[in-house]
Amino acid sequence: MIMGPPGSGKSTQAELLAEELQVPYLSTGDLLRSIASEDTTLGKQIKTYQDKGEIVPDDITIDLIKNIVLKDEYRYGYLGEGFPRTLKQAKAMNDLIDQVIYIEIPDTIVTKRLLSRLICPKCGDNYNLLSQPPKIKDVCDHCQTKLINRSDDNEKVILNRLKVFHQTTKPVILFFKNTNKLVTINGEPPVNIVKDNIFNMITGFKKNNE
Ligand code: AMP
Repeated sequence: MIMGPPGSGKSTQAELLAEELQVPYLSTGDLLRSIASEDTTLGKQIKTYQDKGEIVPDDITIDLIKNIVLKDEYRYGYLGEGFPRTLKQAKAMNDLIDQVIYIEIPDTIVTKRLLSRLICPKCGDNYNLLSQPPKIKDVCDHCQTKLINRSDDNEKVILNRLKVFHQTTKPVILFFKNTNKLVTINGEPPVNIVKDNIFNMITGFKKNNE
């Protein structure tokens, strides 16, 4: 499991590592965004929370996540990102989580990163105007779709997402620290260095538990 504040690079890292480790990848942010884009009662409900930077209620998220990670293809391991985000989620999913990697990074840096993030609305690819710009301005490298800002990447909502992270998700980090499942990684270095550091941690963890 990879956790961290918004903008810490957790989805970038989770995708890279899932590919390297050849395990399925689950991002609750992506999962909930995809349901929110549907014209359904549940979709509209989730969108109101996401647009404000609020946590989607546990009675919606816990069942959704459990239904996925209990599938057969997740049985031999998976890489999760964006959950658990509340103590209730952590307690409900503790048995399904072996190790938590917490990407630590100051609020000032993540705010700058989020304000320069662009995403592809079609394939979901992420870009950053400061560190990882697209080859052609505002155009996705992979599917040539026009890039957009995420609707929750604006100053007011970022401030709220960080507040929610410190109030609601930080206790989850402490929960996993107390269960000896937590390792902390500095999220400030470039993507590849953070990835190598996480990979070394995971390899060490696997060896110690074999
Ligand atoms: P992220 O893509 O991880 O930054 O998440 C974007 C938004 O999705 C959050 O601000 C929440 O509204 C919602 N979200 C993602 N994961 C969870 C979760 N595990 N529990 C509740 N809400 C979530």
